[in-house]
Amino acid sequence: MQADVVVLGAGMIGVSIALHLQKRGRHVVLLDRRQPAEEASYGNGGVVHREGVFPYTFPRDLSEVLRIANNRQVDAVYHLTALPGLAGRLFRYWWHSSPSRYAAITREYAPLIAGCVQEHRVLAREAGSADMLRPVGYLRAHTKARQLELELAKAAKAKSEFGVNYTALDRAGIRQTEPHLEGPFLGAVHWVDSNAVNDPQALALSYVALFQRLGGMFVTGDAGTLARQGAGWRVATADGGSVEAAEAVVALGIWSDRVTRRFGYAPPLFGKRGYHLHYRMNGNAFLSRPVVTDSFLLAPMRAGLRVTTGAEFARPDAPPTPVQLRRAEPIARSYLPLTEAIEAEPWMGIRPCLPDMTPVIGPVPAQPGLWAAFGHAHHGFTLGPITGRLLAEMMTGDTPLVDPTPFRADRF
Ligand SMILES: Cc1cc2nc3c(=O)[nH]c(=O)nc-3n(C[C@H](O)[C@H](O)[C@H](O)COP(=O)(O)OP(=O)(O)OC[C@H]3O[C@@H](n4cnc5c(N)ncnc54)[C@H](O)[C@@H]3O)c2cc1C
Repeated sequence: MQADVVVLGAGMIGVSIALHLQKRGRHVVLLDRRQPAEEASYGNGGVVHREGVFPYTFPRDLSEVLRIANNRQVDAVYHLTALPGLAGRLFRYWWHSSPSRYAAITREYAPLIAGCVQEHRVLAREAGSADMLRPVGYLRAHTKARQLELELAKAAKAKSEFGVNYTALDRAGIRQTEPHLEGPFLGAVHWVDSNAVNDPQALALSYVALFQRLGGMFVTGDAGTLARQGAGWRVATADGGSVEAAEAVVALGIWSDRVTRRFGYAPPLFGKRGYHLHYRMNGNAFLSRPVVTDSFLLAPMRAGLRVTTGAEFARPDAPPTPVQLRRAEPIARSYLPLTEAIEAEPWMGIRPCLPDMTPVIGPVPAQPGLWAAFGHAHHGFTLGPITGRLLAEMMTGDTPLVDPTPFRADRF
């Protein structure tokens, strides 16, 4: 099968790239070893984080490092056996989290975040799924005075420096906004510009359907078979055939470096694993929008009330260890009248992270015709459409809507 471009990986990032290239007249084949959006893009919190101008840092405060080091927390845990392999990357993550580095990173990252809702809206309108993007924002609610103080300071900065809107809520305000949410919350920030999606995979699948309506093809196959063929690329498909294309894009989330390393590019990618489980709620209880508490997220989904966890540092292919969910469940039950869990086993997904908290979007060094887009960490669902547009503009010689320099692959 011949194509102009083969996009490897059909998560939110790969799907959005394939769609944007197809819209620009390229003949695109999208390839995945599974069906589209079955990994990280399936089970996330469904928040389009317009406020996400401040990516998640590595803690710099010793007391915070010691808190996490005891490995009994809800928000972050680690596998001891994974630490030797991760140490170098985590050290770089810590280094990039210094106040001066972080300020520079935030300035570079903010323009990408700025267009996230708008770019989702454009694709969703064309895909007929605009009503899935609910303009209800989300809450960050805190039970600790210091955390609330920091959140309010962050909100004020996001507003003054980046024009992000928010409403500060006291206890009564939380009660009014989410009448069924109980708990010792001191206050919350309602990030009003962000959107909430109650089935992230369904939104991604609506983009795949649009891509196919425009003439794009989805095939299954293993991206690990990618090989040079003349000036272009060849990858084997599951039906025994192959795709041959002038250009290839690696958008394989956490698995991206497994392919790029074979072509001499070894970015310091690492995973933050997260879990979810759905619950039913008693009577007429409901939650109108996602709520991030001190240590986990509650999100109303089609499938039920989704509890998702923070970061687990582990080898990507280590067996799941959902201790954070077990620790979060009793707390979640004290916040909402949850009844039984809907699934027997939790879902697990992996956030693809880079030490400078910034994704790679651009050409792979020294490999003409090979492009990459991965490492979107906590914001890959948010940044799919704008990443797709940016990379498609770079590949087709259009003027990029944001400066791609901070995202270049050769910074590693
Ligand atoms: C618990 C949790 C909550 C989150 N909440 C949010 C949120 O609220 N908002 C937000 O913006 N982000 C959120 N994220 C982050 C977001 O989900 C990810 O950043 C995003 O999904 C990454 O998308 P991706 O396309 O890069 O990767 P993925 O969605 O993981 O897609 C990678 C694809 O590559 C395919 N693949 C891998 N290897 C091969 C191979 N060899 N051959 C063929 N195909 C292959 C996989 O099958 C997969 O389909 C959350 C993540 C988690 C885990």
